[in-house]
Parts: sequence; C-alpha cells; structure tokens
Amino acid sequence: MALRDSETPALDSENLQALKQKVVDGCHILDREGITDGFGHVSIRIPGTQAFITIAAVSPGCATLERLVMLDLDGRYLGGQNAPPYEWPIHACIFKVRPDVMSVCHTHSKWSSLFSVLRGGLPPISHVCQISSFRRSANLSSGRPHQYCRAR
Ligand SMILES: [Zn+2]
Repeated sequence: MALRDSETPALDSENLQALKQKVVDGCHILDREGITDGFGHVSIRIPGTQAFITIAAVSPGCATLERLVMLDLDGRYLGGQNAPPYEWPIHACIFKVRPDVMSVCHTHSKWSSLFSVLRGGLPPISHVCQISSFRRSANLSSGRPHQYCRAR
C-alpha cells in the first residue's frame, strides 16, 4: 500500500464520513434515475489533498460505505476495498488538470454514448457546448484520457 501524505486522512477517519456518504448517495441516485447502465462511478476529491474516493469495482447501485476505495492522483491505493475500478484514470486525470473540480461522475448514459460516437462533432448551438469543447480538448471521446494527463 502506498503511504498517505501527511495531509490525507485515513479513509476510516471520522472527518471523511460525510464525503464517503456523498459518494454512495451519488451512486445510488445515478442508478435509480437510470443514468448508469450498471457501470460507472462517482468520485470525490478529498479537499486539500492529492487523493480521491470512489467506489470499488462494483455497480453504482451496489455502492456501500464498505465498497469504497481511496487512491492518489497517480492511482496508488491508499485505503478501503482494494479493488479500484478500471476507469479510475478518468477521475484522476480530471482532478489533476482541474484543481477546481471536486467530484466526477462517470456514467454510461445512453445520451452521452450517442454523442461520443458522432463523427464530425456537434455544431455549437448553446452555452452547453462548452462541455463538448472540453471533451474534445481532453481527448476523452477517443477513450484515451491518459494521453491528456501526460500532455500537461
Ligand atoms: Zn465506463
């Protein structure tokens, strides 16, 4: 197990209970609203640290406080269930390049999936297109988020 830095509390510490509950609640909301398809993750940055909490490799609907894992932004295991999801780099890369982002929801929404396979992109038709621009610049639509992190 990688060592936590002095700023990162232990996953079972009392001051992380509320954050952990938010991860679980967020996963359950996505699941109950049909936004996920059985896969996906919610993560939360631990404020003031280089670490985040997400669910272990379980479906969001099965998230519990015991099924959480804490990783640093390089994916080193820091505590919890030692089964990080395969897609932990999506969360880590966003937290690395966007210090202002405190939470990431990775879903398999059918609507997002439809956008991701469009050839030629979408013409900008509203302010929401900033999201589309971010996806293109982050190279997330190609399934290569790691390259974005290395380029920074
Ligand atoms: Zn996924």
